[in-house]
Amino acid sequence: MKINVYVETQAMELNKPFTYLCNEQVYVGCRVKVPFGYKDCIGIVTEINVTSSVQNLKEVKEVIDRTPLLNEELMNLAKWMSNYYVAPLISCYKTMLPPALKPSSTYASIVYESWAFKKESQMPLTKHQQELIQSISFPIKASEFRKICKSCAKALIDKGYVEIRQLEKNPKLVSSSVDSQFSLTKQQKDAIDKITQSSQTYFLLHGVTGSGKTEVFLQLASQALQQGKQVLILVPEIGLTPMMIERVSARFGSDIAIYHSQLNNQEKYSQYKLVKENKVKIVVGTRSSIFMPFSNLGYILMDEEHDSSYKQDNSPRYQTKDILIQRARVHHCKVVMASATPSLEAYARAYKGNYELVSLNQRVNQKMPDIHLIDMRKEKSMNGLSSTLIQKIEQCLSRKEQVILLLNRRGYLPVVKCSTCNEVMTCPDCGIALTYHKDSQSLICHCCGRSFYFKSECPKCHGHQFYQLGMGTEKLEEKISELFPEARIIRMDADSTRKKGAHEKILKEFETRGDILIGTQMVAKGLDFARVTCVGILQADLAMVRNDFSSSEIAYQLLEQASGRAGRSDKAGNVYIQTFEPDHFVMKCVLSHNYLSFFQQEMKYRHLGHYPPYVYLCTLIYIHKDLNKAFEIANKEKEFLNSLKVLGPIEIHSRKDGKRVRLVIKSNTKEELNQKIKECFTYHSSLKTNVKLDINMYPNRLED
Ligand code: ADP
Ligand code: ZN
Repeated sequence: MKINVYVETQAMELNKPFTYLCNEQVYVGCRVKVPFGYKDCIGIVTEINVTSSVQNLKEVKEVIDRTPLLNEELMNLAKWMSNYYVAPLISCYKTMLPPALKPSSTYASIVYESWAFKKESQMPLTKHQQELIQSISFPIKASEFRKICKSCAKALIDKGYVEIRQLEKNPKLVSSSVDSQFSLTKQQKDAIDKITQSSQTYFLLHGVTGSGKTEVFLQLASQALQQGKQVLILVPEIGLTPMMIERVSARFGSDIAIYHSQLNNQEKYSQYKLVKENKVKIVVGTRSSIFMPFSNLGYILMDEEHDSSYKQDNSPRYQTKDILIQRARVHHCKVVMASATPSLEAYARAYKGNYELVSLNQRVNQKMPDIHLIDMRKEKSMNGLSSTLIQKIEQCLSRKEQVILLLNRRGYLPVVKCSTCNEVMTCPDCGIALTYHKDSQSLICHCCGRSFYFKSECPKCHGHQFYQLGMGTEKLEEKISELFPEARIIRMDADSTRKKGAHEKILKEFETRGDILIGTQMVAKGLDFARVTCVGILQADLAMVRNDFSSSEIAYQLLEQASGRAGRSDKAGNVYIQTFEPDHFVMKCVLSHNYLSFFQQEMKYRHLGHYPPYVYLCTLIYIHKDLNKAFEIANKEKEFLNSLKVLGPIEIHSRKDGKRVRLVIKSNTKEELNQKIKECFTYHSSLKTNVKLDINMYPNRLED
């Protein structure tokens, strides 16, 4: 039989199938090992029983899977993705599968465990052996079985009473906790009725922070389960996962699969299998769980719809929302996207009626937190902390309530500048200032992640004095503990949460013992702690100064979400925002919790500037060691794309793999943009250049 195979290779030029001979039984969606060039590669079978007039076809070396890894729906989805995002098909297959199953020559193997099973046997046993075999509840892990009595264990195996079998390691990840019971608010009830009774497919659940959106999710999920259907609950990357898992498992027991980036390969694989074998009905997971092999979805529930982690930032650069629309179509299920601060795009769609808008405009406790802007041009401040904020923290602590402080910058010092020779330490790859991390005694590039040991000595003049410009979370923690030596302070940022499970641990610690939680944007997301009544936001203008069409949107989301952590239960919440621009429209909208006003004003800017959601964007990034080469190709392709509006080329931050030059392409229709970018890609291939092209369809923000 002749079959078509997409072979694992990064080269986009090879985005086409190759035909092989296969003498074994094989299906579409299985992995095969095939000879390719000088080596063996892994590929995915996309077609069987093909006809080909090519002579001397090579033969498949091994059929890896007996049954298809990807069913028809997912095979079609991969094709759709490849076309929609102008990405190699094989990269789409890779993205869709858990690491242990990826069609990749370095694919991780599946981990097995030995288990001891009881068997019938006629062989005589000693009294001791008899007692032993009766006292053990089989099956038991082989290692534990041997621990009980090594010599007896061996005897029981030899005599055929016990058999050792290899099972796939199957980690249990969910532990159950107590469910909270309350009667729904009128708004929650209405929202649920609206969603269940409507004939629409897509819903935007716009609920202010603390309005009980999660409870709406759980009720909808429960309805789907009663109809025997599956439910997918999507959460942003890592941050919110522990809380959502806890609530879902408290309600529905531990029969759920979870899926996020902190799981190891084996854990991912076992969770994937739970879904594939229909052993669980609910999946809680981050963006890649949208590719789970569901058979009968009843709801896709997306929490914090606006979150940037729903877009993957390497090829294929998919947006989870696009994918879920494809899946909902096949499964005929409803989709609910929830947020207190919807993305402009989603709200615009709801405005136009593409999504049905469902609102929860009141908190469960009826009280929105009070927002106070602290004008840093007028305030006395020390180490970036205003006297007002210090005083409010003090008062909050004296009431035995909790404080959250947001500073969206990790590390100790954002810039390390020698005060003798004025040298600034920069990343050799990216050219941007390195951040000093006191905890790890290192200088870290926040662009590429490279890290250098720091001896507190200037490499140029060997001076030992440095300017103390600016502040990150590490330094804030230090200053706050000097000011409040009695307080229990906990820091949550990318550095303190690197270890698996650290996130959960930090949150538990804060909930049970903590007084002040300091952190980056992580602390703005979803946290629901009843005793938090004071939220302080430092350097609130940081987000707004980015040179990007989406910076106001991101700033608004961050500030409103952070504010939303205060006063979620019976005690009133207060939020203190330190800003140099209290008159900025973003600040004004946050002050009055007025999303609609923010939406309308920001839409005007987008309209004037011809930015999404009024136009469709694509960015093309050209990468080469030689900047001129990158520019040369970028200019050629700009010429090629001259029927569209093209901005650039401009140089942006370089990376390890070279200098980077960017074009921004705008179009009024998706179809036109997609068509042109595909043509441009073909054109790029025809240039036979070694300038790498990185395509980002529909970016949410521009890279810098
Ligand atoms: P959101 O996701 O909208 O910010 P949550 O779903 O986290 O809000 O709910 C906020 C808090 O209110 C949670 O502690 C939740 O347990 C509680 N809650 C939700 N619905 C109700 C209700 N109907 N009655 C009382 N408390 C509720
Ligand atoms: Zn760097």
